[in-house]
Amino acid sequence: MDPIVIIGSGLAGFTLAREFRKLDTATPLALVTADNGDFYSKPMLSNAFAQGKAPQQLVNTPAARMAEQLGIALATHTPVTAIRPEKREIDTPDGPLRYGNLVLAIGADPIRLTLDGDAAAEVLSVNDLADYATFRQNLEGKSKVAIIGAGLIGCEFANDLAGAGFSVTVVDPSPQPLASLLPPEAGRELVEPLARLGVEWRFGTSVETVDRQGDGYRLTLKNGEILDSECVLSAIGLRPRTALAKEAGLATNRGIVTDKRLRASDSHIYALGDCAEIDGQVRPYVLPIMHAARVLARTLAGDPTDVVFPPMPVAVKTPACPVVVQPVGRDAVGQWQVLEQADGLKMVFIDGGQRITGFVLTGQQTSARAEMIKLLAV
Ligand code: FAD
Repeated sequence: MDPIVIIGSGLAGFTLAREFRKLDTATPLALVTADNGDFYSKPMLSNAFAQGKAPQQLVNTPAARMAEQLGIALATHTPVTAIRPEKREIDTPDGPLRYGNLVLAIGADPIRLTLDGDAAAEVLSVNDLADYATFRQNLEGKSKVAIIGAGLIGCEFANDLAGAGFSVTVVDPSPQPLASLLPPEAGRELVEPLARLGVEWRFGTSVETVDRQGDGYRLTLKNGEILDSECVLSAIGLRPRTALAKEAGLATNRGIVTDKRLRASDSHIYALGDCAEIDGQVRPYVLPIMHAARVLARTLAGDPTDVVFPPMPVAVKTPACPVVVQPVGRDAVGQWQVLEQADGLKMVFIDGGQRITGFVLTGQQTSARAEMIKLLAV
């Protein structure tokens, strides 16, 4: 029997393997991954200082142990270069591999800004443990960090680094933090608490040039300001990895397009995790990925099941000002309303049909998470 082949050893790939093994211990399972296959918690990359962890301490289970526990044939450091759906085969540097069903769990790439300057290529981004190890190495002996982007990952790193004693400057073209996730009132809640921790904000502008300057860097902003920094981290977002699927003739849009059953536009290929656009939505967060992995495991084990996502609020790991948000879609029609404003903010999103379809809680109001989930129209 040709195996079920999973490409990718992140949360999506390994959670699927684990959930599948709970239902089926007989079908051969192969996992092929470009990295070293160690299982780690990616969200911990942006609060590792607060947890007192060095990069290697973030590994929960080494690759070989994962393979043994899950009964999988694991190929590490093996980037898949092509998929041939008509032959049910993938290409790897070790030769072709046949599959019965194929699951793409290949994640997303950090979006790179087009920057000028002789050090533009030295700007770092962190989207996996290897990136994080490089970032930590770069931070050794340094004290000043510039972060490009005040989104979820930029704010989390700003909080973690400032809490560890670094001078942090965050640059973002928006007028407040978390602009794509929160309404402006809620985003503004983060400004003061993080500033008290030592974060300097530069809103309404962007970085244009990064030049080498002694042992560090000189950043020129669009508004003409010059910033000196010893390390530059770009955190302007992620883009689902779609190239492999596209080259194989599969439908792609923002991500690899799947139906509610996680099936791509070929009946033996599925997609899951940061790379997938499931029924029109990309959900690059832990809880929806784990939920979808459980559902896909059932389908692959012979019980075809559609995924239905319950409310899954996202917690932003900024302890200086905690945030919990049930995001609303980019094109959602309606408006945000403040319900309470004491020791934080409680806001709800009311859609055109007067239903509550999203919420945001900041500060101490985050304790109302369970009660807010009950208010949501499902
Ligand atoms: P990945 O973990 O990126 O895995 C992709 C895998 O595919 C890798 O093993 C890679 O090597 C492999 N691969 C790619 N291309 C190929 C190829 N051609 N051939 C073979 N293998 C390939 N979410 C939350 O819900 N809460 C949080 O607090 C949170 N914090 C975060 C903090 C940071 C710093 C980051 C970066 C993300 C955070 N997220 C958080 C998001 C969450 O961690 C991700 O959505 C999730 O880990 C993505 O898992 P994945 O398996 O889809 O992708």
